[in-house]
Amino acid sequence: MTFAATILTLYPEMFPGPLGVSLAGRAREEGKWSLDTVQIRDFAIDKHKTVDDTPAGGGAGMVLRVDVLAAAIDHARSLNPEVPVIAMTPRGRPLTQARVRELAAGPGVIVLCGRFEGFDERIFEARDVEEVSIGDIVLSGGEPAAIMLLDACIRLLPGVMGAASSGTEESFEQGLLEYPHYTRPATWEGRTIPEVLRSGDHAKIAAWRKNQSEVDTRLRRPDLWERHEGARVQSASGARRKDEGI
Ligand code: SAM
Repeated sequence: MTFAATILTLYPEMFPGPLGVSLAGRAREEGKWSLDTVQIRDFAIDKHKTVDDTPAGGGAGMVLRVDVLAAAIDHARSLNPEVPVIAMTPRGRPLTQARVRELAAGPGVIVLCGRFEGFDERIFEARDVEEVSIGDIVLSGGEPAAIMLLDACIRLLPGVMGAASSGTEESFEQGLLEYPHYTRPATWEGRTIPEVLRSGDHAKIAAWRKNQSEVDTRLRRPDLWERHEGARVQSASGARRKDEGI
């Protein structure tokens, strides 16, 4: 099955962009995913091809018109009814590796890229559109966010990454950051690779990596650590209740 990506954008020329090279570019050449762009402006209804208008209530900037957006979404959906529609917006739910995995396991995605002040809110009431943010930052447009989302999905598609394990051992897959990596030279500017990694003792290496992963997550991402610990405590108490027949 080919993962079908359709991008609704005012700047189709931004695609495939970085998705045309390396892993994603090769995977596309091999037919593992496909890319279509839809020019939102083609769905404008006036002779000037207007896609935006001033914000109701006043204020700076312009807002993407709901009638134009709806027509573009309806068109993309008519060609690909099974795939979810995702709007890139800082107001959306933060993207997670778990959501990326779900999307990558599906038939594809239609991605709506905003510009200006963003979308007329009524589009989210009238159409089944998931709002997704790529972080607590504001970009000038949804296109780089769409590229990030697709890049994250494409590398998980079957046969795209070399070693199957490289997908599951990484940061966020187990709710933790990944352990740190090292490679040759063994000594560089007086700094050596941790001894245990050169020991050849696979059990010790695995234990060291697990510990590093936990320590780094606790220090660098207390939010992730808290969630991870919460889930661990909850699953342990669930197992205990099951054992006790509660
Ligand atoms: N006025 C909006 C706000 O404050 O929430 C920001 C609009 S931004 C300048 C223009 C477009 O960039 C958005 O409609 C969205 O498509 C995209 N964008 C900006 N930041 C984003 C983020 N963190 N995640 C996803 N998309 C983003």
